[in-house]
Amino acid sequence: MRKTLYLKFILAYVLFGLFGFFIVATFISRLTFAFFLQHDARNLYRCASEISETQAVSLYNSEVSLDSVQRQMELIGRYTETEIWILNPSGRMVVNTAQAPDPEKEIVVEGFDPTVTQGSYYTTGRFFDSFSEDRLSVIAPIISNYKTRGYVIIHEPLERIDITANRFLNITYVLLIVLFLLSMIILIFFTEVVYKPLRSIIRATEQYAAGNMNYELNIEGEDEMGYLAASLGYMARTVASSEEDQKKFIANVSHDFRSPLTSIRGFLEAMLDGTIPPEMHEHYLKVVLNETERLTKLTNGLLTLNNLGTRGMLLQIVQFDINKTIRSVAASFEQTCRNRNIRIRLILSGQTLFVEADMDKIQQVLYNLTDNAIKFSPENSEVEIETTEKGNKVIVSVKDNGIGIPREDQKQIWERFYKSDLSRGKDKKGTGLGLSIAREIIRAHGENITLVSTEGVGSKFSFTLKRLDINDAPDDLDDLGRWLRDMRDNPDEIDEFAPPEEDGSQK
Ligand code: ADP
Repeated sequence: MRKTLYLKFILAYVLFGLFGFFIVATFISRLTFAFFLQHDARNLYRCASEISETQAVSLYNSEVSLDSVQRQMELIGRYTETEIWILNPSGRMVVNTAQAPDPEKEIVVEGFDPTVTQGSYYTTGRFFDSFSEDRLSVIAPIISNYKTRGYVIIHEPLERIDITANRFLNITYVLLIVLFLLSMIILIFFTEVVYKPLRSIIRATEQYAAGNMNYELNIEGEDEMGYLAASLGYMARTVASSEEDQKKFIANVSHDFRSPLTSIRGFLEAMLDGTIPPEMHEHYLKVVLNETERLTKLTNGLLTLNNLGTRGMLLQIVQFDINKTIRSVAASFEQTCRNRNIRIRLILSGQTLFVEADMDKIQQVLYNLTDNAIKFSPENSEVEIETTEKGNKVIVSVKDNGIGIPREDQKQIWERFYKSDLSRGKDKKGTGLGLSIAREIIRAHGENITLVSTEGVGSKFSFTLKRLDINDAPDDLDDLGRWLRDMRDNPDEIDEFAPPEEDGSQK
């Protein structure tokens, strides 16, 4: 492709030149000759008619002498560089500017026929073999008393018309050469602006195809080529980084699967070969069970992420009460909270707060955030879940007074499998997938999730949701719902957590 594109352009250029010369040499040349022939014929005929109406008629009416007409014709002939004849209808020469006719010796144009012009006023050729080379001959009849008394015939060598036409053609050739040379600028321009950058791009794509994603493509400029090169470079960098991510991902997955499997295998072998005595079996079987739970959690997390990562994740957008969802998630942590004496405080805006989102997925986000908040909180502390309205958005935040996240880790915690060193000792079961899942879900909704955290003080995760206008709330609200909606005007801002009466779906 590389060679042919350039060759094609050169070929087109050469063809353009050759074709131009061919057209000028044939078509234009013929047209030019015809144009000058017509032009001269018209002028000469006008001249011949003039002579026939004046001098020739006078001659036939014997008003002027033959000598005087002969001299006058010679004068005109010399001036126009032509040969002028006056012939009788029978073809007898009366006047000839090339050679004055001898009254003693009659000259007759053999076979003279005035209709030789075939309806036109001129003819080309050797004029009844009177000349050795071709002439343009115009014939004008001499009419007196309604009778044709003779003919005025003017001859001009065709060679002269040829010379004039060729002179004109030469100018055209020069013009064509100038044009051809000028169009070379286009060729040079094409080479510099299109061909060379294109070659660099092809070289780069070959390198990328061979796996060298770090190949530098140096094409600058704001035109389409520059844009193409920049896009290609961006694509290469993205592919390179996604390859890197993939390697990291596989390494993480393998590592996270291998450690529980190794410990399960170790315990089972120890039980089988008696290293662990039978009375301790129950204890270690529980440990093994714990590890298998972790593997299940890991597999489920990976599956969820895989589904979320697929482009155009299908969300089942419904209108629901986020406050109710929060209450139900909080309820599902009741036992855990009781064990560690942690209180979940709900600060909800209004009794009901309708949003438009995928309820199950938002519930999962809430579950992941609350789970983390409890996991990383000390005993006897408090976790706050708050909803606030801002314009057409609802902000949901989950705040804890736990270990916090070091500043340098705050960007990475959203990555798959990332666990900050601070948390490792406290959470051996964590997969490092919870926050990536939460972020993917919120992003799929076109919303944002953010984190504010201080090491040793606590963390606050907040995400936005699309608020449903109260007037758009579903019509099928039950009586309680309608009553709650009316209550919105006097919301009880602080709502202490109490297990809800509705059954909250547990995760
Ligand atoms: P995991 O299953 O390990 O909790 P996540 O993706 O949910 O995975 O969290 C990733 C890491 O972010 C955690 O291992 C922890 O280091 C940190 N993290 C998340 N939430 C909190 C929090 N509320 N307080 C302190 N650290 C947190």
